[in-house]
Amino acid sequence: MTTDDRERRVIDAAPTGLFIGGTWRAASGGRTLAVEDPATTDTLCRVADATPEDATAALDAACAVQQQWAAMPPRERGEILRRTYEIIIERADELALLMTLEMGKPLAESTGEVTYAAEFLRWFAEEAVRIDGRWAREPGGKGRLVTMKQPVGPCLLITPWNFPMAMGTRKIGPAVAAGCTMVVKPAQQTPLSMTMLASIMTEAGLPPGVLNVITASSAGKTVGPLMTDKRLRKMSFTGSTPVGQRLMEQAAGNLLRISMELGGNAPYLVFDDADLDLAVDQAMIAKMRNMGESCVAANRFHVQQGVAEEFAARLAERMGALTVGRGTEATVNVGPLIDGVQRTKVAELVDNAVDHGAKVMVGGEAPDRPGYFYAPTVLQGVPQTADMFAEEIFGPVAPVYSFSTEEEALAAANGSDYGLVAYAFTRDLGRSIRVMEGLETGMVGMNKGLVSNAAAPFGGVKWSGFGREGGREGIEEYLSTKYVAIDA
Ligand code: ADP
Repeated sequence: MTTDDRERRVIDAAPTGLFIGGTWRAASGGRTLAVEDPATTDTLCRVADATPEDATAALDAACAVQQQWAAMPPRERGEILRRTYEIIIERADELALLMTLEMGKPLAESTGEVTYAAEFLRWFAEEAVRIDGRWAREPGGKGRLVTMKQPVGPCLLITPWNFPMAMGTRKIGPAVAAGCTMVVKPAQQTPLSMTMLASIMTEAGLPPGVLNVITASSAGKTVGPLMTDKRLRKMSFTGSTPVGQRLMEQAAGNLLRISMELGGNAPYLVFDDADLDLAVDQAMIAKMRNMGESCVAANRFHVQQGVAEEFAARLAERMGALTVGRGTEATVNVGPLIDGVQRTKVAELVDNAVDHGAKVMVGGEAPDRPGYFYAPTVLQGVPQTADMFAEEIFGPVAPVYSFSTEEEALAAANGSDYGLVAYAFTRDLGRSIRVMEGLETGMVGMNKGLVSNAAAPFGGVKWSGFGREGGREGIEEYLSTKYVAIDA
């Protein structure tokens, strides 16, 4: 064991059971699954490994209190979110350490995620009291048309490992605000941030049964029965496109309301009139936040011919200067990838690009040390035939492609099945308007490498999914509209 005393205390404070109906319990049958530190491959602890029966028990608990919860005054629901926000901010250091231990990202980034996660709770605390409807005269003058918003009902929320807390709060926040009850299934690699969040929400006054958490090693098998259970009304998923597609097929059978935040393949366009200092600075954020393990990570740098070489050289210099190591160390900028599968995938994509003629400017290999590390890498002269042009890298690898005209840049940017986010750097106003309108994505970073904000609608088009999280749109995913015709 390489964990020190403080790390051990933080791990021991995180619940390891299933949270069902307000109590923590072992999985039926008593199975557990290991939670690993990706920087050392040591087991941090073991958590309950839920069975399909446990998942059904969690849905039972959610259904049992749905009506009562929907009737709770919106202000009270909002205040529970607000109190949770405050407790999270107060304990940000311990929560960040816990996240770094199970997920690997450097402490400063975990602290950033904890704050970002809490912001969704603050935002939706404010939205809880702004759920309203409309009143209109029937156009012919005969009667009134009244609409109201009501909670959709019990939800299944499935979250990934890359942002273990924020991907939860941007579903849990609006569900709580709207008056829905829920079953949450975090990723098996990072269950502790979610069990800790459930414990904090309970402390903040969330009634038993509103939020239920099940951790499981076999996600599909465990949540399968819920997807076909007619009591479930909504499923929100953040994860890979293939799993999203499978879940959508299941959701069709049960006519579930669904939100899908799926994969990305973000283009990062740099025109020759861009502020190159800014473009390089922001590229470091767009590429390296979360070690590149983010659906909004810049996946393809398309740089105009006149500045492509300089951009690649400057990016390589910055990437080469980063310190790789265990995220708990203050000097570390780049932590490990989540697991061996992910690292192998990144290494294969780099090898494939090199086979296609790409030149390694820096990195290009896994350092020789324990843990799932991969060196920050810049590749130049990558042909569009390389696999990484079409596939999400999910690692610290920046391929630089070049283009000559604006039309060519837009065509390359849009030449992807995915459409989550795109970044563009130019100082020309006309060009920025053409580009932001022409990009086939749900979000655009204009002269900015970070778009995520609790007050803005996050989401994609094409194979990146549908539905929006955050902003004014976020709560709509958890509300249905009822229309009442009144004879008057
Ligand atoms: P990633 O590549 O980020 O691991 P996944 O799509 O595999 O993305 O996982 C995202 C979430 O979806 C995790 O919580 C995972 O356990 C869950 N998951 C994976 N497969 C299924 C499935 N067949 N049914 C339901 N959930 C699943």
